[in-house]
Formats: sequence, C-alpha cells, structure tokens
Amino acid sequence: MGKNTRTVKVGSVIVGGGHPLAVQTMWKEPLRADGLDAAVSRIDTLAALGCGILRFAVPDLDAADVLGRLTGMTAMPLVADIHFDWRIALRCLDYPIAKIRVNPGNLGAAWKLEEVAAKAAGKGIPIRIGVNAGSLPPDLKDRSDRAEALVSAAEREVEALEARGFRDVIVSMKASSVIETISANEQFASRHDIPLHIGVTEAGPLVQGCVRSAIALYALLSGGVGDTLRVSLSDDMESEILAAREILAQATGTRTGADIVSCPRCGRAGFDTHSFTARWRDRIYGLKKPVTIAIMGCVVNGPGEAKHADLGITGAGDKVIVFSKGKIVRTCDASSADIVFGEELSRL
Ligand code: SF4
Repeated sequence: MGKNTRTVKVGSVIVGGGHPLAVQTMWKEPLRADGLDAAVSRIDTLAALGCGILRFAVPDLDAADVLGRLTGMTAMPLVADIHFDWRIALRCLDYPIAKIRVNPGNLGAAWKLEEVAAKAAGKGIPIRIGVNAGSLPPDLKDRSDRAEALVSAAEREVEALEARGFRDVIVSMKASSVIETISANEQFASRHDIPLHIGVTEAGPLVQGCVRSAIALYALLSGGVGDTLRVSLSDDMESEILAAREILAQATGTRTGADIVSCPRCGRAGFDTHSFTARWRDRIYGLKKPVTIAIMGCVVNGPGEAKHADLGITGAGDKVIVFSKGKIVRTCDASSADIVFGEELSRL
C-alpha cells in the first residue's frame, strides 16, 4: 500500500513508503489523571490485538498534561487530537507525543496552525491534517461535491505548511459516505505523495460500521491507497482494532496474527459457540502467530473445519472434540470445553 508515499515517523512506527500499515483506534472516554495505571493495562491489551497507534481527544490544557504523563508510561505511539484551541496543541508538544492531529475546519486563523507547526518542527513531531465532512471550513462546507471539498480543505492546509518548510504531514479525509471517502482519497493520492490515514468517519454501530468501512477501505487498499487506517465504530476500541486488522488481512492477502473460523450456530450445535468465541476472542487474537482456530458447533461441518485448523473444537452431541493439526487430541463433556481448549491453546 502507499508505496510511493513519503515516510513519516509516528513515535516508533513508520507510516508511508510501503511500510506495513499501522492499525489505529481512539480512546473513547476522558483520560483521567487517577486512571493512568488502568489505561496502561488497557493499552497493553490493545497492543496485543494489533493496535499500532492510539489517539486521544485533548479538550483542555489539563487533559494535555494528563496525556503527557501517559506518554512516559507506555511505548504505544500516542496522538493528541486537538480541536478549536491551538494552545492545547502547543502544550501537548511539551511532551514526547507521537503526533498532533488538527482539524483545519475548526482551528481558526492560519497563523495558529503555523505556530503549532513551528513548534512541532522543532520537536520532530508530525502533524495529521484531519479533514472531516462534518466540519469543513466555512467556505467549503456547502459545496455540492463533498469529496472535492475534502480534498480542497486538506490541500489548503498542506500548502500552508509546506510553504513554511513543514513536510512531516499525514492527511486524512473522512466522510460517513463510502463513495465520498473513496473518491476524496483517490483524488488526493493521485496528486500527492503525502501518506494517507484512511477511514470512514461516524460509520455507525458495529455491524453497519464494519460493512461501510470494509467496502471503503478494501476499495482503497486494493488500489494501493492508504498508509494507516482506522475503523470508526459506535463500539469499543477492541472491535475497531479487530475490524481494521481483518480488512487489512483481506485486502493485502497477508495475515500477521491468528484467524478464527467459527460457525454461525444452529439447532444442531452441541455447545454455545457464540459465547465461547466471545470468551476466547482476545486471547486468540492476541497470539503472535499466523494460526487458524476453528470453533464449530456440531459434526456436520465441525470436524472438516477443525481438521484444517491449527487448533479446532467442535460439538458432537453432549461432547466436544478437540483437534490439533488435523488429529483428534481430546474428547470431553461440553461443560469442560473451556478448560480443555485452554490447555491445548497453550500448547500451540
Ligand atoms: S457447524 Fe453445525 S452447529 Fe454450526 S452452523 Fe453448521 S450445522 Fe449448525
């Protein structure tokens, strides 16, 4: 993806130039000074699931200081998301944050962004110009071609920064419309070598959001557009990470972590594969191996899928059968499925 884009360093992650695409998400609640230890623990979980860059809303100067403290507690590249007040961005730049994200539609006068860029340049911290269809600059917000308006808003800010020698830039142009998101990013990529953070914004709740994001991101990634991505869901961060990594795996044909094959369940199921899959989801996706795990309800398709997986479990009447590398290794009562599965998972 994005082979011809320039590279930008976001903390320890290189974005652009054909480097592996980092999956991003955004912290979903205010970051509290007394909650930093818990935040670090949650960040560790996100990292295990595949999160490469994590963004935080920074609504005021106190929040900037709290985020600044967190930068010293985790290796995860942390991004400060700034709206309206450029002084908050300046405060964030006192800390080793990985990137500043600003929305040109609501930062105000151009000199404010220039002041932020001057300080960022001095610290070697990149800026993401994050344009959203819902908050376009006043002179662009009523344009009938919203994709073109997104591109114009981004180009305007990029030109202002580059005129002052600031090139450490990533751009995003997001809309809730799949078509507008694809069009804006394709247009921009055809004209610039600036790395693109791609995603559909306000994509909706879990199901709708995943569908919209998958269509847009698959189209862009398949065409070589996109250098880092986020799936924006009205759901938890873990779901955003897992959705993005699955889209990435399907679009690029490469998978770096574990894959789950699980049956939709029907009246034949010998055990509750839905709750079982939910209980084991994070543990399986946290495996740093390209293994396939099959979780199947009955003997119709269960043995077939389980045999082809690195580890498989299938219901069989009131029993479950566990397969490892194609061979039956355990048979037990369905009530012991978690214990037996956990033991075999540890052996992978
Ligand atoms: S594997 Fe069995 S339980 Fe699962 S959907 Fe297929 S037939 Fe139903």
